[in-house]
Amino acid sequence: MTLANTLACAQQLDNDDPLAGYRDKFFHPVIDGEQVLYFTGNSLGLQPKAAKDYLQVELDDWATWGVEGHFHGRNPWVSYHELLTPASAELVGAQQSEVVCMNSLTTNLHLLFVSFYRPTKQRFKIISEAKMFPSDRYLLETQVKHHGFEPDEAIIEVSPREGEFTIREQDILAAINEHSDELALVFFGGVNYFTGQLFDMKALTAAAHNVGALAGFDLAHAVGNVPLKLHEWQVDFAAWCTYKYLNGSAGNVGGIFVHDKHGQDTSIPRFGGWWGHNKERRFLMENTFEPMSGAEGWQLSNVPIMGMAVLKSSLDIFQQAGIEALREKSVKLTAFLQLVFNDVVRKFDNIQLQIITPTTPEARGCQLSVKLIGTDKRFFNALTKAGVITDFREPDVVRLAPVPLYNSFEDVYQFGQRLTSLLEELHGEY
Ligand SMILES: *Cc1c(COP(=O)(O)O)cnc(C)c1O
Repeated sequence: MTLANTLACAQQLDNDDPLAGYRDKFFHPVIDGEQVLYFTGNSLGLQPKAAKDYLQVELDDWATWGVEGHFHGRNPWVSYHELLTPASAELVGAQQSEVVCMNSLTTNLHLLFVSFYRPTKQRFKIISEAKMFPSDRYLLETQVKHHGFEPDEAIIEVSPREGEFTIREQDILAAINEHSDELALVFFGGVNYFTGQLFDMKALTAAAHNVGALAGFDLAHAVGNVPLKLHEWQVDFAAWCTYKYLNGSAGNVGGIFVHDKHGQDTSIPRFGGWWGHNKERRFLMENTFEPMSGAEGWQLSNVPIMGMAVLKSSLDIFQQAGIEALREKSVKLTAFLQLVFNDVVRKFDNIQLQIITPTTPEARGCQLSVKLIGTDKRFFNALTKAGVITDFREPDVVRLAPVPLYNSFEDVYQFGQRLTSLLEELHGEY
């Protein structure tokens, strides 16, 4: 069917959507007595209605068993993290031995850098995208300094060309080749948080390996958004958070991927803790650290059960829905948002709102980033007041992320209606 910015079209798309029923499995925020349009799953996903029940099981087992819950609970806590592994592995395209949920994102990246950024005088450079998420940038800066290098020399940032917003893959490949002999690592966000650009992780990994470097990715904006095939792509390592598209709740435990080509080698240097120790011998309280094989060998501490229980309630939904089906819907939903958005804004000429995210589905996930021209943060504030929850990133970008699990095509249509009223009100004001 041809897409049009009409209620009838949106409703038809919802009728034809096999995943439409998942919307009801989440709580949709009601602010000032009105259910808002929530397009911020890229920042904090919504709460699965089942989360309470999953949590209640663990609270009850704690009440019933105390410490014995580690072994006698319905989901024994000593191995609770293993329950999250199958779904996590599916989401990132990994063998189960290659993933584990632990700690949080920035912490995990530092731990992975201990193993996979081991610079030498000759090979010490890291290639990344310009305008990384600040935490990732601080990671790179402090890691290179920790090893005695200067950030200005060691961190090579690839930027969009003059007048462009997204980075051309050929420019990344050129940078990799230019620095080849000195390159230790290619480290990118799978999807850039600011522009929503999806990078070709397979191509970047191959290019890194081709010059003798490793490739790692921050998947904060990619996991649960686009299907990934980390194992097949030969990615060396990756990490993600679970509170964005994975709806794990604010600040919850993150996940890591270590390719088996490294994970099975227990001699790889790393920082150790008892949860990464040979699990048959973990409680023998021996002195010498003997890491488990696979990603689990990077664990340090026993795990936060309550957070993991909440995360499991969402991962179970992902397993049911399937990331491929979600992506299929997501491509349509984001295309519909692009159409509705452009249809609305072309009627107004004093405020320009420009989508800076790539327009082809292969180069983006669900997020559209909109650059504000001729207006500023006041526009974002007005949008929030009109009941549309998005987010603003300095200096001038509003990010909209229609999430296939819980956003409908009608949500997108209603967004267009609210945007129209808003722009009519603002007309002439700025
Ligand atoms: C959300 C996000 C983070 C947040 O890191 P935490 O350690 O979870 O606070 C880091 N990097 C990127 C790219 C992000 O999108």
